[in-house]
Amino acid sequence: MENQKRTALITGATRGIGAAIAQDLGKLGFTVAATATTEAGAKTITQRLTEAGIDGAGMVLDVTNSASIADVISRIENDFGPVDVLVNNAGITKDNIIMRMKEDEWLDVIDTNLTAIFRLTKACVRSMVKQRWGRIVTISSVVGSMGNAGQCNYAATKAGAGGFSRALAKELGSRNITVNTVAPGFIDTDMTKDLPEEARKGMLAQIPLARLGSPAEVSEVVKFLVSESASYITGETIHVNGGMYMG
Ligand code: NDP
Repeated sequence: MENQKRTALITGATRGIGAAIAQDLGKLGFTVAATATTEAGAKTITQRLTEAGIDGAGMVLDVTNSASIADVISRIENDFGPVDVLVNNAGITKDNIIMRMKEDEWLDVIDTNLTAIFRLTKACVRSMVKQRWGRIVTISSVVGSMGNAGQCNYAATKAGAGGFSRALAKELGSRNITVNTVAPGFIDTDMTKDLPEEARKGMLAQIPLARLGSPAEVSEVVKFLVSESASYITGETIHVNGGMYMG
């Protein structure tokens, strides 16, 4: 890998964990295609990459839309070559207790967090197989392992991402493609900033390291998994949660 310029696609890279991963993989030498849901977001990403001296671009992508995925993949292939590394990072929450959860809240979260990783993987995997090299990393969550009241939709998608990745790891291992998940705990991003003070305090009380994690601390693990150093790790979930859950 070190001698060859490879291309990484990172979904949901405008902010939070995805933004950190895009910068970090760029600094490692990958060409970076990093996505936003809006033109303005894509422009900002391109600007940040350029400022950091990273090859690549921000692109508009809605992971729930197959046509949008096809557009982005063909643009990456035209501009940079095939996708060698796929980081499924984009994700949403629509929390509610089961008795109040609307079918829309269930379906939107399943579509964005779980069906999307199937769509993106399918769109990228053919060229990885052809090249006999690939890395697929999906950002799951600690709640996929330990559960969380009010998040049965979200927890189902994150547990699903683990099962998906283990099955895929078995399918693709012989082609030298690794498939892993990174399961963050409580990370300081937009996703967690609106938590009520009480819930935040309760959460912190469960974390031995007694603080939120940073996007950079999650990105470090993604960097490792996509590198040659992790060439014999597949079908694995690596937890990054300050000790909140010990698998
Ligand atoms: P943020 O809410 O900060 O950012 C979410 C990103 O996903 C944004 O870039 C957003 O784009 C993008 N996105 C949302 N919907 C879509 C869509 N339909 N198509 C494409 N992109 C979309 O999230 P975090 O950085 O906190 O989380 C990143 C990942 O990590 C998620 O999968 C999340 O579930 C997981 N995670 C986060 C934890 C945390 O504590 N923060 C804990 C455990 C897991 P835009 O800005 O354009 O809207």
